Amino acid sequence: MKLGRPGFILSLLVEICVIAGIVIYGTFYHDNYSNEGGLVQTIQSAGIIPLEVSQEILDKEETDDKKGGTYAVVPSFRTSTYRVRNGDNLWNIARRNNLDFYTLLSVNHLEKANKLSIGQKVKIPNQRGILRTLQKGETIEDMALMYDVSIRKIIRVNRILDPYSIEPGTELFIPGAKVTLAQGREILKQSGIPAEFCWPVNRCRITSRYGYRRDPFTRRRAFHSGVDLAPGYGARVSAAMNGIVTFAGWMGGYGKLVVIRHAGGYSTRYGHLSRISSRIRKGRSVSQGQQIGNVGNTGRSTGAHLHFEIRKNGRTLNPLNHIN
Ligand SMILES: [Zn+2]
Repeated sequence: MKLGRPGFILSLLVEICVIAGIVIYGTFYHDNYSNEGGLVQTIQSAGIIPLEVSQEILDKEETDDKKGGTYAVVPSFRTSTYRVRNGDNLWNIARRNNLDFYTLLSVNHLEKANKLSIGQKVKIPNQRGILRTLQKGETIEDMALMYDVSIRKIIRVNRILDPYSIEPGTELFIPGAKVTLAQGREILKQSGIPAEFCWPVNRCRITSRYGYRRDPFTRRRAFHSGVDLAPGYGARVSAAMNGIVTFAGWMGGYGKLVVIRHAGGYSTRYGHLSRISSRIRKGRSVSQGQQIGNVGNTGRSTGAHLHFEIRKNGRTLNPLNHIN
């Protein structure tokens, strides 16, 4: 076919675009995989594997599969071993490895997860999820429904060849399992971690409840983000649940405040303290019932009391609904 000058230039342009497209596509396509491989390698050599199946890869893999391609990119479940060092606890080990606290708990079957000893071995899985033993009468489909995960993902991550041949007692890793409150409590219980909040002070008067009230300073309607407990000046204040201290010091109207982070996105706050116990510092782990300070009247307070908050993912909850 004979092309005029403009026609020739046009076809040349089209060709350049096609080649450029292939090059760009090839580069990105290739990078996706080589980078992942590189990440695994470097981190493995450092002894910690924080590799997580990114949603992007899973989505890509789903589309690849629809096109009839391979799905070798989904990492099968595996663990590496980490030896506990001074200052470690399951929370900070989980965070360093970009894992969920429940993931570490379920994989490790610890009897006393809140008491790790130095040198103790902890299994670090290569992705988030829950390791669970299949009970009698349960199927992979049940697991998929219980934890809101696709059956295909469970099959792939566990490299199951015949889903119908899975026997009760088999350990299955449920990748990206969405853990309900009840399931979370069960995992905590199995790991020897108290799953219920307890009162931070001994039985006493509740002088102000959670919710809207008349502000004692401005006399205006204002939201009270916790409960006020008045066991008397200097009374012992203890941690309502196991966790990690994320703040210990002075914070505005709270006065002397301790903030503790717990599993499952929960945190508790203890305000207006007269004194913070010396062991209570940022990053330290505390166990339920351990003393964290004493009741006081610091900050924006009208008398000796403890201002106690329970939060989930930063939002305050009514503590009375979360303590027995
Ligand atoms: Zn208060």
